[in-house]
Amino acid sequence: MEKITVLGSTGSIGRSTLDVVRRHRDRFAVFALGAMASVDRMFADCMEFAPRYAVLSDPAAAAVLRDRLAGEGSGVTVLAGYDQLSFIASHEECDAVMAAIVGAAGLVPALAAVRAGRKLYLANKESLVMTGHLFLEALRESGSVILPVDSEHNAIFQSLPEREQRRLCFCSLRESGVTRILLTGSGGPFRELPLEELSSVTPAQAVAHPNWSMGSKISVDSSTMMNKGFEFIEARWLFNLSGDDIRVVVHPQSVIHSMVQYADGSVIAQLGNPDMRTPIARVMAYPDRFDSGVADLDLCALTGLTFQEPDLARYPCLKLAVDACWTGQAATTALNAADEAAVAAFLGGRIPYTDIYRICARVVDRFAADPITDVDSVLDLDRRVREYTASLL
Ligand code: NAD
Ligand code: MG
Repeated sequence: MEKITVLGSTGSIGRSTLDVVRRHRDRFAVFALGAMASVDRMFADCMEFAPRYAVLSDPAAAAVLRDRLAGEGSGVTVLAGYDQLSFIASHEECDAVMAAIVGAAGLVPALAAVRAGRKLYLANKESLVMTGHLFLEALRESGSVILPVDSEHNAIFQSLPEREQRRLCFCSLRESGVTRILLTGSGGPFRELPLEELSSVTPAQAVAHPNWSMGSKISVDSSTMMNKGFEFIEARWLFNLSGDDIRVVVHPQSVIHSMVQYADGSVIAQLGNPDMRTPIARVMAYPDRFDSGVADLDLCALTGLTFQEPDLARYPCLKLAVDACWTGQAATTALNAADEAAVAAFLGGRIPYTDIYRICARVVDRFAADPITDVDSVLDLDRRVREYTASLL
């Protein structure tokens, strides 16, 4: 039995994770659940999975949850406050942690899991975007194992030889004959929209991803391809890449989830229906495979698979993130915080869509040279960027 803590259990990835657990109750027990404030969802999951702990970072919501569970005679211990997420992520009785909190809020509990040597299923790409080599140092020190949930990184992982799978973050892909990583992305809902119409797209249009059903933040990031930029940075750290090792390819159908190109001319890809339960099941079953609930891919029903170069005039956020990747840790940390604030402002109807890029570009320009020495300086930069972004907004 693997005892698992699910951080962000009420979100899109969290719910898919619990669905995989539900199919394999003989292999997994839920040790703890963590989320922000969704009392109803958390109550239902506590009743179904009977974890030892449930954490809501919002204290008022936690109090309501505690009362409701007590009323049902439940034995779940409800804890309140953000710090308790790190407690359940690093608890000695927990074997593995699904890190699926969205945004910068996911970093500290994910790091707590790594430092405690827990196996980490990483969905929260922001952890690597914000801390890069600091995260790797923590992994090296604790000997913790990391497995990528993000579908592209999971596809790359699946397309690599086992010896590289077993040394993620410290890979040597050249030794394995890899010449390039091909990171695919759909291009989002505005791939063909006339450029002059981008400034007037609405939040509802931006979150309506053509292939994937996801949380609102990552859906907006997919439409700007900032998400692909963050994934570029995530891939750099996960697979120990440099310079020209990685290329972004627009693949609108989202059937291929990314590819690895080898020196002998082979390209190995992972294909499947766009459903996150596939990569989640891949990491949870590893090295085995088991049912994820995802339907078989019907190749003959596909109308075609197409590929194109990303148009950087349409997706300036992609270029911003790729440049930040090679500029340094402060640039990617600042970009992450600015994007989170700008996307929230866009979703709240406070800024037009095209301002997401404008704000992010100004922030990176201003903060890219800040010194980053440790995780505290990352969190401090994150806070200062949010203050500055608020003043721009
Ligand atoms: P979501 O918005 O659906 O869910 C976010 C979860 O995080 C919720 O459970 C919420 O309660 C929790 N949360 C947010 N702030 C919190 C806080 N301060 N304290 C405690 N909990 C908090 O997001 P999602 O789409 O599931 O994405 C989760 C992560 O997975 C993100 O980092 C995203 O980039 C990554 N990811 C998602 C997908 C996808 O298909 N949804 C794919 C790849 C990677
Ligand atoms: Mg992805």
